[in-house]
Amino acid sequence: MADVARRHDLVVLDDAAQAHGARRDGRPVGGGPAHATAWSFYPGKNLGAIGDGGAVTTSDPETARRLRSLRNYGSSEKYRHDEVGWNSRLDEIQAALLTVKLGRLDEHNGRREAAARRYDDGLAGLGEELELPTRVPGTTPAWHLYVVRTPHRDRLREHLSRCGVETLVHYPVPPHRQPAFAGTGLAEAHLPVADRLAREVLSLPMGPTLRPEQQDAVIDAVRGFRP
Ligand SMILES: *Cc1c(COP(=O)(O)O)cnc(C)c1O
Repeated sequence: MADVARRHDLVVLDDAAQAHGARRDGRPVGGGPAHATAWSFYPGKNLGAIGDGGAVTTSDPETARRLRSLRNYGSSEKYRHDEVGWNSRLDEIQAALLTVKLGRLDEHNGRREAAARRYDDGLAGLGEELELPTRVPGTTPAWHLYVVRTPHRDRLREHLSRCGVETLVHYPVPPHRQPAFAGTGLAEAHLPVADRLAREVLSLPMGPTLRPEQQDAVIDAVRGFRP
């Protein structure tokens, strides 16, 4: 990726909105090789605030200076605006809470990892009826979600709901099908993989407070499904 970017003079941006604490080749996500990395602190994320928040990390001093200015109405000196920016400041209360939660991120991600393993074991062997998340060698996922795939997604989802298991779909409508892109080239795109994933993905309950017995109930409910 870095080579392609260098050859074509491109800037690489990482979307790590749901990857806090994930690692690639031993390095934490956000430590390069991307030029800058975007993070979300939306309450549901692995590192979530008690309101909206986000951050950008970069090793480039000029990008850092520009971002500090843009998030503050394009101002780096009081009452002087060098360009048009916006208000994207993270407030102190959120920052204080996130600082405390950051200290527990690895512990919480470790619990997510244990939960992912429990699903991997408990749901193994269902073949194409239920495809489990794949692990990319050399990476440590943050397990923000545990997403399975099945051709009977909607019926499995209804069955789980009747068993008292809440699931979500991330995401039911791919970007090229969004009304916002109607009338653009993106709407005309032929993207069969994205369309199939939107029909087949299902996010099972996942999080650092999920208990083994709750997971076993999910596993039993999935295994009890007859398409
Ligand atoms: C949550 C999320 C976003 C949006 O983050 P906000 O803080 O809501 O702006 C973007 N990309 C990915 C991959 C996400 O998971």
